[in-house]
Amino acid sequence: MRKIVTAGEILVEIMARDIGQSFLTPGPLVGPFPSGAPAIFIDQAGRLGQPAAIIASVGADDFGRLNIRRLEESGVDVSAIAVHDGAATGSAFVRYEADGRRHFVFNIQNSASGLIALDEPGRALLATAGHFHVTGSSLFSERVIAVVKAGIEAVRGRGGTVSFDPNIRKEMLDAPGRREALEFVLDRTDLFLPSGDELFLFADVGDEAAAAAEILARGVSAVVVKKGAAGATCYDHAGAVQAPAFPVEEVDPTGAGDCFGAAFVSFWLRGEPPERALRFANACGALAVTKKGPMAGTATFAEVEAFLESQR
Ligand code: ATP
Ligand code: MG
Repeated sequence: MRKIVTAGEILVEIMARDIGQSFLTPGPLVGPFPSGAPAIFIDQAGRLGQPAAIIASVGADDFGRLNIRRLEESGVDVSAIAVHDGAATGSAFVRYEADGRRHFVFNIQNSASGLIALDEPGRALLATAGHFHVTGSSLFSERVIAVVKAGIEAVRGRGGTVSFDPNIRKEMLDAPGRREALEFVLDRTDLFLPSGDELFLFADVGDEAAAAAEILARGVSAVVVKKGAAGATCYDHAGAVQAPAFPVEEVDPTGAGDCFGAAFVSFWLRGEPPERALRFANACGALAVTKKGPMAGTATFAEVEAFLESQR
């Protein structure tokens, strides 16, 4: 099986307990939960039994330790997570509004996550990797962009493949160097995993199928559009396959896209057809939204199979 390597932020997430709660006055909080989009992705890949590793950095504190322990439990190779004395692990505080909107207070760039670098342990990982995954939200500084670019080049140089989840809002595109970095990644992507409108950040047409076709024409092998409770559609050079989501009660949407992506990539790397990859990935996404905590819903292969069996 091919080893998946990713790089980017590791965070703790701390949530307001009550819907409608403000951060302008004291209130009950829940957490810390292990988090960070690339960390959630790689945790899910590890749980599915795929060889998996992450290049990242945390502080020498409990927030860093809880993340490393969690990833180890999921079977992820943590040898390239640097632990920095004197820097604090990154964090995200989140509160929810009644209409489902989420508001974050992030501490990423100035946390230990901002100190990411490609050192000897990371290079050793890349020398045995068959696939590299990029999360667009990780491209927050020149430093991390350099690590991601080096990871892509190393894996492609060995004949490996690249997946890319833009995971970005339009407002973020204004950050210096971000647009160029996203285009660099897309030009080297085999499997593109946008959600909803993210597809249109990279194509000039207003219709989903036409936008997917435009991106396939750039040399991408498959475009998989994630659509929340409406499931997902895979476009490749053979055509389009659509798969419905599973009916579940949404408790916490954070992380669904990363869990879906890890499952789809794992199946795709094993040569499974899009129908099977979509069904399994939709199941992982559905399981992810049923638990509070970004990584709380990552499931093992056996758990996903049991869920699929229960849905027959
Ligand atoms: P994220 O918030 O993690 O960035 P995303 O926007 O990248 O998420 P979504 O489209 O929200 O990704 O979710 C990914 C997948 O998870 C969906 O394609 C679907 O399979 C599953 N999923 C998400 N929400 C639900 C839901 N309410 N019910 C069932 N399945 C869901
Ligand atoms: Mg997403």
